[in-house]
Amino acid sequence: MPQLANPFGAAGSWFRGNLHCHTTESDGAMPPDRLVAHYSYAGWDFLAITDHWKVTTFPEGTALPDITLLPSIEIGTAAGSTRAGTNYHVVGINVQEELPRREETGPAAAQWYVDAIREQGGEAHIAHAYWSGLRLEDLAAVKGCYALEVYNADTEVHIGRGLSAAVWDDLLTERLPWCAVAVDDCHRPGYDSLRAWTVVRAPDRSPEALMDALRAGHFYASNGPEILDVRWEPEGTRNGVPYGGAVTVRCSPVRSVSLVADATRGSRVNAGPFGMTQRARRLRGETGRPEGVLEGELLTGAELQLQGNERYVRVQVEDALGRCAWTNPLFVRTIEEEG
Ligand SMILES: [Zn+2]
Repeated sequence: MPQLANPFGAAGSWFRGNLHCHTTESDGAMPPDRLVAHYSYAGWDFLAITDHWKVTTFPEGTALPDITLLPSIEIGTAAGSTRAGTNYHVVGINVQEELPRREETGPAAAQWYVDAIREQGGEAHIAHAYWSGLRLEDLAAVKGCYALEVYNADTEVHIGRGLSAAVWDDLLTERLPWCAVAVDDCHRPGYDSLRAWTVVRAPDRSPEALMDALRAGHFYASNGPEILDVRWEPEGTRNGVPYGGAVTVRCSPVRSVSLVADATRGSRVNAGPFGMTQRARRLRGETGRPEGVLEGELLTGAELQLQGNERYVRVQVEDALGRCAWTNPLFVRTIEEEG
């Protein structure tokens, strides 16, 4: 079973960063050194500047704040590659060399870029699938990405197409074990910055440790809430494969905790005196509640039951403002395991 490593049980610390942003070296509004300072002031631990077609770096000796920089790039395949209006934007993290523009279009072009990024020691993710109009078949055709962007703040604030959770669930339902990041895709700091981030569990925040953690799936995505702990206690094993049992989640105060699975499965707790629970119960946490919020209106933890037949499960929490945090899938079953 592609059972992804659980970052909540891993040694190390949590580091918050942004894996997608632009500067005046492409179509961003702020020069690179100012953008680095902007994220550093906000307390971000790492930043990947992903200018279009350009790896933005700093001359030796440039005075920069103490934030880990991952040299990165964003490339785009030609529009109309698979259908009118669709194209792939591929973000390459930890890239040293720029990539040539390809004449071909569609998934073959996207695959070429993903492979080229990985040959350099980098990793690739697919940007804003919903904004691009990429559907299940478009994403399933590209292999070797470490993630897609479940949430992209820039495309959300512009046209409301920032959330790509549905196509992510389609991929997982097809047993394709994709992970997900959340990013700003910042072009105009102040409007589309500090709105979404990826929290990485790693021994330290060196580029090497952060890249290893991305490859291992040791991260979760958020545009607001904090996930403090996720533990799966399976009911037992079938043919050596764990199944069923319960997932315990602890988080910052939220209005719902969901165990999202394939269609019609899963479970959820909703906060509030009339909060519905489906195969789940609330946990009274120790994190307290924000000022002005009545007892019982928000949750800081939940225990969610599995039925044992889920093809995959992932945890999603939503706070009082509708902001979410998304874990990577805890497992994705193969056809053989499903029987
Ligand atoms: Zn971008």
